[in-house]
Amino acid sequence: MFAYHRGIVQEFWLSSAAFAGVMCALAAVGVAAQPPGPNDPFAAQRTAMVEEQIRGRGIEEPRLLNALRTVPRHEFVPDSLRDAAYGDEPVQIGSGQTVSQPYLVALMADLLELDGDEKLLEIGTGSGYTTAVLARLARRVYSIEIIDDLAERAQGVLDDQGYANVEVRVGDGYRGWPEEAPFDGILVAAAPAEVPPPLIEQLKVNGILVAPVGGPLQDLVVIRKTPEGLERRQVDVVRFVPMVGQAQEDPEGENPNF
Ligand code: SAH
Repeated sequence: MFAYHRGIVQEFWLSSAAFAGVMCALAAVGVAAQPPGPNDPFAAQRTAMVEEQIRGRGIEEPRLLNALRTVPRHEFVPDSLRDAAYGDEPVQIGSGQTVSQPYLVALMADLLELDGDEKLLEIGTGSGYTTAVLARLARRVYSIEIIDDLAERAQGVLDDQGYANVEVRVGDGYRGWPEEAPFDGILVAAAPAEVPPPLIEQLKVNGILVAPVGGPLQDLVVIRKTPEGLERRQVDVVRFVPMVGQAQEDPEGENPNF
């Protein structure tokens, strides 16, 4: 009986060692690392969030739902607000900013039509939560945040969570990230009066850009760059923080793209 018991324990130990080996291999090739363990106290809240707020509102893409079931949103908000992390609303993350409502993160990620091989640009890292969701859905994510405290904290959480395929930079996202352009997709999480021309330039042909545009309530617009030009549609009305920096110096309506 004792030997039998030990056999089981050892088998479990061996299989978890093998599991750890696989996870290391995945991290080495740049895929997001270990999901939360079975003792994660927020697992049930996260499952409910996906069922009620995401699937319940019509988003069905299996890879996206899986990413949302996996990324520990509570790790990206301040400790004192962890219990509010899975609610159907934005959460304060410090420096006067918020992490978007889960549904909005899901909707914007869904609109990018990701299949796993994309190089993405995100403007407005904030907490890093959206960055983590995108990192599970694409090959690599470059993210720009204008507030250095937020960028530093987000990069720290992403590192702790093992996201090896993410790079965060402090700067004004208006100018994009020319050294890494072009991008298959661009997600803008702070609202400019119009889409900054450098972001359009840094989008690949057939690439998709999703951005809140205008204010104080914004149009959520999706722009696809086709060989013939730009296709633009509006999918929703949203409320994001304004894009600060150069976007606020550009007089509205002077964007040569539209
Ligand atoms: N998606 C984020 C939340 C973004 S909130 C998350 O998951 O937490 C919008 C963020 O955009 C804020 O952190 C704000 O500081 C940042 N921001 C505003 N203007 C910016 C600019 N010009 N360049 C880069 N980031 C900007």
